[in-house]
Amino acid sequence: MRRKKYDAPVLLGIERGTKGYMAVWCPYCVDFHLHGQEEGHVVAHCIDPESPFNSTGYYIKKIKYAGKRVILENGK
Ligand SMILES: [Zn+2]
Repeated sequence: MRRKKYDAPVLLGIERGTKGYMAVWCPYCVDFHLHGQEEGHVVAHCIDPESPFNSTGYYIKKIKYAGKRVILENGK
């Protein structure tokens, strides 16, 4: 198990579509943040200035559904 660099939380990245782009649900912005294909530590895309993710970022761990496309509520 690798040591964490920061006190950054780990969020599950929902793979959306066949290219491996991910979305994570942010409880502070109450919305999905759209990310690229890479797991690991990322800069937060928070629009809420109070979000603690703005200072820590977060780690993305990808989860993958076999054979089914994930469609988020808002159609992203
Ligand atoms: Zn956010």
